[in-house]
Amino acid sequence: RVMSSDISDDGEEVIELSLRPQTLSEYIGQKKVTDELKIYIEAARFRNEALDHVLLYGPPGLGKTTLARVIANEMGVNIHTTSGPAIEKPGDLMVLLNELEAGDIFFIDEIHRLPRIVEEILYSAMEDYFVDIIVGQDATARPVHFSLPPFTLVGATTKAGSLSAPLRARFGIVLRMDFYDEKDLEKIVVRTANVLNSNIEKDGAIEIARRSRGTPRIANRLLRRVRDYTQVYADGIISNIMADKALTLLRVDQKGLDAVDRQILTTMIEHYQGGPVGISSIAATIGEDRDTIEDMYEPYLLQIGFLRRTQRGRMVTASAYEHLGYQIPKNI
Ligand code: ADP
Repeated sequence: RVMSSDISDDGEEVIELSLRPQTLSEYIGQKKVTDELKIYIEAARFRNEALDHVLLYGPPGLGKTTLARVIANEMGVNIHTTSGPAIEKPGDLMVLLNELEAGDIFFIDEIHRLPRIVEEILYSAMEDYFVDIIVGQDATARPVHFSLPPFTLVGATTKAGSLSAPLRARFGIVLRMDFYDEKDLEKIVVRTANVLNSNIEKDGAIEIARRSRGTPRIANRLLRRVRDYTQVYADGIISNIMADKALTLLRVDQKGLDAVDRQILTTMIEHYQGGPVGISSIAATIGEDRDTIEDMYEPYLLQIGFLRRTQRGRMVTASAYEHLGYQIPKNI
């Protein structure tokens, strides 16, 4: 049972909901993560206990929210979802904690953005299932003790590094999500195409998978756009050629880089001699938000070896020069 409204990246909520795998066996890829989880879930179920708190970290769109729902399903419990920025005051958190029943999953997306005073309340809630807070003001202020049922906090974050040490230490299960390989993305594309009732050829799925930056959310989004394109320009069958044409129109290149990825790299090359340069300078030069570059763009550029991190900042690599059609500098 889903307790709060579902949020999707581009407003296609209904499709988004039906796309989500429900069980661990339907969940494609991330084998290391799911193998581990399977054991912990089975053990917790066997002992009839709440699962230990789980921290999922990794770039956006890799399936953290989906996995939280799968965990709830597999445990046979309710999931209550919220996000770090949505909980502004201790009172907001109390309202949510008050709804929990024994064994429930409490999912906090973007948990690194919880305000400190809220975070501190979570410590005892996670560790010993109670909260002590001060109710009332000045003369009427008094401490109140709330007991909570055993529950599982599932936190998701794109920035494990910005989580405070005491919060991080309270997660018994910490799992890192990796970019998906092409084979797994191909399976995801085929699965989504089936859910959407669209006709896709194997080569078409491979082409979309190859250009999805290792990310299921992007794969699903590109598939929807390619599907639109083939409906207008072809017979609705997603072939390799049609996928390529549609993706080229979307300015998604052979490596899956989009206009912003290329802008980041060309800016570094043309304005900063390929670096080293700090993220803030890049952000200011291209007029993008620093966090967006750090969370959404940089991880994949690092993964495919187009960017390198050094003590003094980011540097463009030889393969990025080559991919963008620049001459490779001698001193690189
Ligand atoms: P995150 O919370 O990490 O940003 P989501 O869980 O919202 O990512 O996933 C984004 C999209 O990708 C969803 O549409 C989801 O259905 C799909 N997706 C993610 N992981 C998988 C997977 N392992 N198998 C199939 N679809 C997936």
